[in-house]
Amino acid sequence: MNKKGGQNLKMWEEKFSSRSKTMKASAIRELLKLVESPDIISFAGGMPDPNLFPKEILGEIAKEVFVNHGGKALQYGPTEGVKPLRETIVKMMQEEGIKNVGLENVLVTTASQQALDLIAKVFVDPGDTVIVEAPSYVGGLQALQAFQANFVTVPLDEEGIKTDILEEKIKELQGKGVNIKLIYVIPNFQNPAGVTLSLERRKELLRISHTYEIPIIEDDPYGEIRFEGEKFPSLLELDQIGNVIGLRTFSKILAPGFRLGWIIANATAISKLALAKQAADLCSPSSTQYIADKFIRDGYMNDYLDKVRKVYKEKKDTMLNAMEKYFPKEVTWTKPHGGMFVWVETPEYIDTDALFIEAVKEKKVAYVIGSAFYPYGEDKRHMRLNFTLSTLEQIDEGIKRLGELLQSKIR
Ligand code: PMP
Repeated sequence: MNKKGGQNLKMWEEKFSSRSKTMKASAIRELLKLVESPDIISFAGGMPDPNLFPKEILGEIAKEVFVNHGGKALQYGPTEGVKPLRETIVKMMQEEGIKNVGLENVLVTTASQQALDLIAKVFVDPGDTVIVEAPSYVGGLQALQAFQANFVTVPLDEEGIKTDILEEKIKELQGKGVNIKLIYVIPNFQNPAGVTLSLERRKELLRISHTYEIPIIEDDPYGEIRFEGEKFPSLLELDQIGNVIGLRTFSKILAPGFRLGWIIANATAISKLALAKQAADLCSPSSTQYIADKFIRDGYMNDYLDKVRKVYKEKKDTMLNAMEKYFPKEVTWTKPHGGMFVWVETPEYIDTDALFIEAVKEKKVAYVIGSAFYPYGEDKRHMRLNFTLSTLEQIDEGIKRLGELLQSKIR
């Protein structure tokens, strides 16, 4: 018996469900533990700049909500979300051009991560096939993996998911009788690649979804953080909900600590997802729902987003300029028009997993290894850099250090 501190570890191992055995520790979270030391410049993680949080305004609103409406704000709320916030969300979505959206199409969630988990729970049986972008958001992959999804990957380029390859793969799989459950995409300023799905490919993706009858998960945390270039209509707007389940979050447009997001979908899917949410957490926090709602109703959102876009653009420009200056010419990177990430590609002989250790230990600079963003970890020549958390000085210095390290590996 394997005993530690009086606990029977073997017994515990044996009691875990077979589903839990497919859960893997996120490479990112494990690596982040290494980079907590204050002398490291970290481009890992994906956090908003905390200096921008509208602390004073939120403090005033929170006080008013707790003191004057505490009876509701501190109480359990409906699973679907508190009504004022759902009404505000409907209005925001209508303003975005989704004309047919009503309260029955909205489910407030404990941010997008819960939405991903609920979707996996409601749609994925063990072994079911889900199509994902390569690379894709690691938390999305983890949520689907926990319900034993089988992943089929489709590559991205500067215009987002390659719809020609997507269609070929679907034909091949459906030809073999495979029931493809979902296509999961992050169309704006993709995490990790920073690229945006072009209008033409958005339309093509929807055509494919309708032709082959496969719903699309449109995960869009970064759409409002566009600091340059033309805005494209969302898949939800183009399809007027239709085959799309849209995921939105307050994490990047207000505060991730609120743990608030929402799903927009047809009423049938929303009812089922609400049942799954009941079992998960009964309801999202009423308090942050009332505070977020008042923040929007009192008209603070636009000014706040303008400030966020301005600061992030400056940080992104600083990072790209530093890369031009310090990175070897053999290394390339994406040029995002919004969001929080730059995706760097190294020559194939540089293994970015191995380089990470040297970067942290010798150069005191951190990134996220590219392999974390592929369900089967096949890629070793990318790194994801976040530009929102560090100061302008740290960005320049960190890219300089990373540039020196990359230069030393060039053959
Ligand atoms: N989807 C994507 C693409 C993300 O990048 C993130 C967070 N980084 C999430 C979902 C989850 O965010 P949250 O749960 O804070 O809304």
